[in-house]
Amino acid sequence: MALHPDQWLKPAGSGLYCEPGGFHIDPGHPVDRAVVTHGHGDHARPGHRRVLATPGTLAIMRNRYGEDCADVMQALEYGERVKQGEVTVWLAPAGHVLGSAQVVLEYGGSRAVISGDYKRRFDPTCTPFQVVQCDVFITEATFGLPVFIHPPDSEEIGKLLHSLELFPESSHVVGVYALGKCQRVIALLRRAGYDAPLYLHGALTELCDLYRTQGIELGELRPATTAGESLAGKIVLAPPSALEDRWSRRLVEPVTAMASGWMRVRARARQRGAELPLIISDHADWPELTRTITDVGAGEIWVTHGREEALMHYATQQGLRARALALIGREEEGQ
Ligand SMILES: [Zn+2]
Ligand SMILES: [Zn+2]
Repeated sequence: MALHPDQWLKPAGSGLYCEPGGFHIDPGHPVDRAVVTHGHGDHARPGHRRVLATPGTLAIMRNRYGEDCADVMQALEYGERVKQGEVTVWLAPAGHVLGSAQVVLEYGGSRAVISGDYKRRFDPTCTPFQVVQCDVFITEATFGLPVFIHPPDSEEIGKLLHSLELFPESSHVVGVYALGKCQRVIALLRRAGYDAPLYLHGALTELCDLYRTQGIELGELRPATTAGESLAGKIVLAPPSALEDRWSRRLVEPVTAMASGWMRVRARARQRGAELPLIISDHADWPELTRTITDVGAGEIWVTHGREEALMHYATQQGLRARALALIGREEEGQ
């Protein structure tokens, strides 16, 4: 008789604790052993004694927190298995940002999959989400309402390029988060045939360099602060926080865009001062969440963070068991 995962996998603060393995998943505070799904700050924290993660995630953690941000950093390739205590652990691609992983745990005759943050649609900057059959699927629900249907990325990038045609003398500044969104917007622009240099706020260069060392093509990137170069008619990427500060004065009659899944919500776009909201999300929308629940074939769904209720209701309607974990300290902004 299989041991039910609720016997050995428990919510702990902002993460989960696996008792027979002796490790936490995405803990929000320093622990002895951590398995980290991906490099975003609400999942990857400095100060653990041992960290197990993909090489991409470890590279991002070193970049953000320094070489000695953990005593031991153990890299695990997608699909490679290790034993932690009595638990078999492996990582499967989550399609969220470079290095992002689902954590697969096998113990006592059952398999639980912790999705971390994920999406299903194509992203040229990371390995696509892998469906892993399991008994319990632990999913995020950032966009867990039926109203959240993200449009195709190509449409959103098309809006930006169209605006550039209409206002060829304006700087087009796009607010993007430094990890993931920035590199994805760049890669999508390149796929849409935009091959002119792109201009970066200084806070974005290091992670772009890191992506390139991991083999992601981004084309020609220049610092937005290069003396003497006019930014008229150029596309400039900057962190959302920089859009309103002194830095942006060097832009010429700027058109302000913002790339985020939240741009679907008008009030948020206004609040961000985005004249050109681009709905580009690194989180699954409602159709992706519900399709994934079907695809993984789990009899039971646990929902970690976001809008749990609608997704739990959906799972129950499909004849599945559903449970809200109500983890604390997860940020919904950032992607
Ligand atoms: Zn994330
Ligand atoms: Zn997150």
